[in-house]
Amino acid sequence: MTTIMDRANALLIEFEQNANSLEKVTPDTVEELRIHWLGKKGIVTKLFEDMRHVPNEEKRDAGKSMNVLKTSIEASLDVLKSKAADFVFHSILNRAPLDITLPSQKDTLKGALHPITLMQQKLLKEFRQHGFTVYDGPETDFDFYNFTALNLPADHPARDMQDTFHLKTNQDIMVLRTQTSNIQIHAMLQEKPPLRIVAPGRVYRVDSDQTHTPIFHQIEGLVVDKKISFADLKGMIQSMLHSVYGATAKTRFRPSYFPFVEPGAEVDMQCTHCQGKGCKICKNTGWLEIGGCGMVHPNVFEAVSYDSEEYTGFAFGFGLDRMAMLNWQLPDLRQLFEGDAGFQSQFSVFAEGAPC
Ligand SMILES: [Zn+2]
Repeated sequence: MTTIMDRANALLIEFEQNANSLEKVTPDTVEELRIHWLGKKGIVTKLFEDMRHVPNEEKRDAGKSMNVLKTSIEASLDVLKSKAADFVFHSILNRAPLDITLPSQKDTLKGALHPITLMQQKLLKEFRQHGFTVYDGPETDFDFYNFTALNLPADHPARDMQDTFHLKTNQDIMVLRTQTSNIQIHAMLQEKPPLRIVAPGRVYRVDSDQTHTPIFHQIEGLVVDKKISFADLKGMIQSMLHSVYGATAKTRFRPSYFPFVEPGAEVDMQCTHCQGKGCKICKNTGWLEIGGCGMVHPNVFEAVSYDSEEYTGFAFGFGLDRMAMLNWQLPDLRQLFEGDAGFQSQFSVFAEGAPC
């Protein structure tokens, strides 16, 4: 007479034959095999049900054989599952590689210039018309160009006004530039006065909220000549802002302190979001600061060996992001850095197609 133990041994051999004869070891075929053997109506489950017919004296040995059968099948299924996962992984690898540089086939995903690029183009066009030369400079720079030569020697308390990213280096102290003003120093060391330059670029500070981001953009300007006065500075900035925002754009100058200028001022634009009535964006003041300016400090001229008795000059630095925010009434500065194609595609209508 065939006992449960004999059946269990025979079934284990049958299971192994079943497993070895699988054409493909995939998650589906392994699951099919599991259901066939261990499922609710599976062969092993039925065998356990038959246990009730086994005489009591044989139950212990029969139970043992069945447990051996069940655990052996479970162990084999685990091995097969891992082979199936390998199969899936290799089929993904063997698919044609994805080339993300290929152009999109969808008409809806047309590219558009970023609002900061558009703002930069608009300003550079304006400055070129005023006879300015466009300059570029390093984003990682020596402490000398970003601070010391700009009348901010080591331990100067005003350094605390700019939370700086310092770079680890074995040589001189290097920083991610906190302002485009480093280009003033590079330009003056390369050129003799008179000078009229403008320099847009990325700058970095440890700062992040609704109106501040760790990476932002500035546009720097520097004019050095004989008999340059604060009136020239004010006139130039007002004319530039009027041509960008329209003749009704309101600006104001507030006396302020920047170590590299004397006297210095902050330039505010009336909030375009609320037309000066006061809103969340302008913190209910009706105005938004767009940059700083002033007459170049004699110590800065001294650092680059310009004669401060013979020459005077003015400098200004504006936040390109703030200016773009005001121009298109954007509620949150961080929208400019989120890489949202839907947001950015709206700006395609503003592109002039002119390279900057
Ligand atoms: Zn406002």
